[in-house]
Amino acid sequence: MPVHDSTIADSASPVLVRFEQVYKTYDERSWVVDDLYLDIRQGEFLSLLGPSGSGKTTTLMMLAGFDAPDRGRILMDGKDISGLAAYKRDMGVVFQSYALFPHMTVAQNVAFPLNLRKVPAAETRVRVQEALALARLEGFEERRPGQLSGGQQQRVALARALVYRPRILLMDEPLGALDKALREHMQLELKAIHKQLGITFVYVTHDQDEAMTMSDRVAVFNDGKIAQIDQPQHLYTRPATRFVANFLGETNLLEGTLLSREANRACIRLDDGGLMLDAPCADKGLATDERAALAIRPENLRLAMPGEAAIAAQVIDSIFHGAHCKLRLRMAMGNELAMTYNPGSLGRPAPASGESVQLALPPEHLMILR
Ligand code: ADP
Ligand code: MG
Repeated sequence: MPVHDSTIADSASPVLVRFEQVYKTYDERSWVVDDLYLDIRQGEFLSLLGPSGSGKTTTLMMLAGFDAPDRGRILMDGKDISGLAAYKRDMGVVFQSYALFPHMTVAQNVAFPLNLRKVPAAETRVRVQEALALARLEGFEERRPGQLSGGQQQRVALARALVYRPRILLMDEPLGALDKALREHMQLELKAIHKQLGITFVYVTHDQDEAMTMSDRVAVFNDGKIAQIDQPQHLYTRPATRFVANFLGETNLLEGTLLSREANRACIRLDDGGLMLDAPCADKGLATDERAALAIRPENLRLAMPGEAAIAAQVIDSIFHGAHCKLRLRMAMGNELAMTYNPGSLGRPAPASGESVQLALPPEHLMILR
């Protein structure tokens, strides 16, 4: 996989915002945001990715200043902003529901934040034109939101959020209401706008493809905590937990018991077939004799050569997807596996349903997870 072009710049960028042991509850019984520690770097495109209810919106609302932490601090440029009013935070916000003023024209909607801040009329005109050009809305100035498509309304919300040149743009599932083609088009445009402006973007989504496509880094949320934060390709190739492995793409998990471990590697014995394998293991808490799983992506499984260490499986079915083919397989103890491959790359005819095959586990693609 290619290395992301902003890798080096990102890790060198200073911290703009820091969440320090932040907690939030709505009902005094459970933490919706639970001991959150998060650094947001200057100029990065950071996505908060996770299932519904994992605390992404709550985190964004605390960052925007619409909600306050119950414990902990939020720092910007090293200063505590936990108690600072939203309008003093220098952040623009775009929601999934566009929240436009229906009785105002596009130009009036976009000018609104500047009017609130008493920016002179001449400067307002210039800045509104700039923001409309950025969001590709020239020619729509006099329309009202009701006369625009969903995609165009979201562009107005974007222009309105950018018009006062905030230091951070916050977006909460902004493309969620758009159809797939338009959403993919807008993803590329948002990425281009991020590059053009050079400001920090914090983007909430539950869509892993969206997060992977757009972001410099992705924070994977689970249950009010960050399960892992890293560049997209690292999350995909080196997930730290089963949750991350399964949330970003598909992963085969072969259950077993840890035989030994040292530093960042471990040896596991698989329940099915008893194969012993050595693989990277980033989980420092995982000890000898504990239950663990060997993880391998479907695209990294392959049919074994004669004599190679392998696991036996039976083909359930073989599906042609066009660009790739997929085999669903069952191991002796009943676990299902998936293997994908490029048509023509097997060097033999595709295995048929019911056929028994031997699967090789290429060592460079294995990981041991708790
Ligand atoms: P996400 O954006 O990841 O879907 P949220 O931050 O919106 O998650 O919500 C996290 C949890 O907090 C959910 O269980 C949700 O029901 C609850 N929650 C969110 N907002 C409120 C609120 N205003 N009052 C009570 N519970 C809330
Ligand atoms: Mg949400």
